[in-house]
Amino acid sequence: MLNLVLFGPPGAGKGTQSEYLIKKYNLVHLSTGDLLRSQIAAGTELGLRAKQLMDQGILVPDEVVIGMIESKLHENQTPATQSDASLTGGFIFDGFPRTVPQAVALDQLLGTHNTKITIMIALVVDSEELTRRLLLRGQTSGRPDDQNEELIRRRVKEYNDKTAPVADYYSQQGKFAAIDGIGEIDTIFKEICHQIDEAVER
Ligand code: ADP
Repeated sequence: MLNLVLFGPPGAGKGTQSEYLIKKYNLVHLSTGDLLRSQIAAGTELGLRAKQLMDQGILVPDEVVIGMIESKLHENQTPATQSDASLTGGFIFDGFPRTVPQAVALDQLLGTHNTKITIMIALVVDSEELTRRLLLRGQTSGRPDDQNEELIRRRVKEYNDKTAPVADYYSQQGKFAAIDGIGEIDTIFKEICHQIDEAVER
């Protein structure tokens, strides 16, 4: 089983690379950003509360996202979906964990399912390029958090302050690989696959 954390600031290309990785390695995609946006679309109370923070570029509380991931992991283990689950090669975590307490909680959760993180792959992109990409995405994505330069800078700052330390957490476990996120999508994908294949063999 391959459990992959795809890591990097907003706009680094996690969503794009996730799509290719899911197909190649037959993974279940768990994106906390997508899960939160579907709560917002459904108009749930959790969604309403999360939206207020997301619209300001601030992280939602750890217990909220940990709870969402916990129930998704559980869903993929229930007898009703066991035949599907047995066909999957593992999970790809996209946009999670975003804080060290989230990373600790994920290790615990995976432990209860008798599995663990194989590797964290970080996509490295400088903040000027991130801002450029996110403003471009904002023209078509409809995401309010992609349409305002100040908000984008706030998200990148949240990332640098709270999320960047998560890399050290995995690095200390010998499970960290950084990849240049600027260049051809296909070249970056091949480099990610190379790192994954090496980690699986270890
Ligand atoms: P991006 O990586 O482009 O910022 P995401 O879709 O991953 O986009 O996240 C959008 C917003 O959702 C974040 O700015 C944050 O407010 C919230 N969010 C997503 N995942 C998490 C998480 N793991 N912990 C806390 N907040 C999160």
